[in-house]
Amino acid sequence: MMSVDVDAAHATANVLHMHERIPVVPGPLTLEYPMWIPGEHMPAGPIVNLAALVITAGAQRLRWERDLVDMNAFHLDVPPGTSLLDVRFDFLGAALGRYSSARLASANMLVLTWNKVLLVPAVDDYRTVTIAPSITLPGIDWQYATALDTATHNGAALTFAPVTMEMLVDSPLDAGTNSRRWPLGTIDGAPVDIAVFADSPEQLEGDAVIVKLRNLVTQMARLYRARHFNHYTFLLTVSDVLPGEGVEHHQSSDDGTPADFLIDHDELIGNADLLPHEFNHSWDGKYRRPADLATPNLRVPMKDDLLWVYEGMTQFYGNLEAARSGLLTPEQWRDHLALIDASLETTTGRNANALLDTAIEAPVLYDAPRSFRSERRGTDFYSEGELVWLEADATIRRLSGGRRTIDDFARAFFGRTSTGPEVFPYTRDDIIAALNAVQPFDWRGFFAARIDAIAPHPPDPFTPDGWRLVYAPKPNALESIGTKLNKTFDVRYSLGIVGGTGSVISDVIDGLPAQRADIAPGDKIMAVDGRAIGESQTLQDALDAALLRAQHGGPPIHLLLLGGGIYRDIAIPYEGGPRYPVLEPIPGAPNRLDAVSAPLAR
Ligand SMILES: [Zn+2]
Repeated sequence: MMSVDVDAAHATANVLHMHERIPVVPGPLTLEYPMWIPGEHMPAGPIVNLAALVITAGAQRLRWERDLVDMNAFHLDVPPGTSLLDVRFDFLGAALGRYSSARLASANMLVLTWNKVLLVPAVDDYRTVTIAPSITLPGIDWQYATALDTATHNGAALTFAPVTMEMLVDSPLDAGTNSRRWPLGTIDGAPVDIAVFADSPEQLEGDAVIVKLRNLVTQMARLYRARHFNHYTFLLTVSDVLPGEGVEHHQSSDDGTPADFLIDHDELIGNADLLPHEFNHSWDGKYRRPADLATPNLRVPMKDDLLWVYEGMTQFYGNLEAARSGLLTPEQWRDHLALIDASLETTTGRNANALLDTAIEAPVLYDAPRSFRSERRGTDFYSEGELVWLEADATIRRLSGGRRTIDDFARAFFGRTSTGPEVFPYTRDDIIAALNAVQPFDWRGFFAARIDAIAPHPPDPFTPDGWRLVYAPKPNALESIGTKLNKTFDVRYSLGIVGGTGSVISDVIDGLPAQRADIAPGDKIMAVDGRAIGESQTLQDALDAALLRAQHGGPPIHLLLLGGGIYRDIAIPYEGGPRYPVLEPIPGAPNRLDAVSAPLAR
């Protein structure tokens, strides 16, 4: 059996020393570094961080050669009489890039995702490869958590029960010197808990949040009434040193938030859907998985065309279950819906790219620049998928006279009966058949119009539920929290300017006044209406004041911009005033949204 040993003794210096022992037979051999990572939907394996690869057979060092086309593949010849290879390499952390090594270690924290530290003989089916994993932690005072079963624990040295390569890649390990663990309940006999690792001990005073996470487990049990894990652990880092994260696994999730997530109410609200979202993936994404994403190994490319279910419906339930468990109030949930609806409404790219195209293009869009998002489109299958599934819910409630909801579909399709960590692939036809079993309707046409066709406007799930999107002169409560947390400014629905860090414009909205005035992403706002941005007034307040002056008959708004070393004074004729999205009840219509977000009673 192959073994992989991680020497993390120097992880705080962001280097892991790897030693694998691989049974082989003489002849040509190809070792592969995982490329298409489950949950990441793209070829994101950080091969650039693999270094110092040395392969030996006994005392003999073997020559290897990287494939000319596939940078993740290494070819060698195993000499006659050889039955075991020693493979040594380093994994280098602290590089930049999404899902890359930036999230590896800090002075008191380690996040190990095993796909980063595996070189494995090429196989057709990675579920047939069994691996014995082990690790040496940076110190004996380091606690750890993982979905793997610990076999031996001797000081800082840990060995785990052998698992398939599929399950090893699915079972990250977190470790650190400041940690706490809370039980959260059970689902059909399987325990759920959370292990939190922090920059400093006071960031672990999270008992008030834990109460809401226990509600979450109760609500998820009532939603699905079955589970697909033997035990489940949220692996959460709360850190301002390690980057944030959210990657789903069958029996755990790799979660990262800002350091004050457990102790600052605004930080909790700003990240409220993270844990519900990743937990939901255990049912929707890991157990039930689009057939095109249920690949037999990590070399076969994944096809992302059903991410509007995998991610879109999980985005829907992530936010909805946050509301049902009290992580968000019903009002904050509606504020969130207003924000995504308004954003999608100003996405002009929707006139050229169907929602399906954003899913197919996901491997490119995840790393897309923040600029020109309205015209390019982003990974809109998350938020627009959320609205599609909310509209599906409104449709089922209407047609069934309120007797059935989307929860009945979720329970039948993703819940079924309890299992351990298994994969049960599906196609779009399976989704349509299961929806028809809950509520007969033209679901094929429903999705064709919303997913496949050019749709100039996002779905409207609000009118049937008694609400409508309007624009108010002040941000809704949730948007205010987001703007404050991000330390930025945002006038995207009036001038069409999205703030970045400092006073730099991160994006301009296609077709809105700033873009028509040739203002570009990257321009820095130096002054508003002739006044420098100073201590006494934030840029957000200065822009809102200028918007009000112009609305009440004042002169055009003047922005002094610095871009490419050149100052420009731009006058923007705009009298629409401040505009911030919010949902308001339609007078006389029944309010059904509150029924959707109410906790499930059983
Ligand atoms: Zn997700």
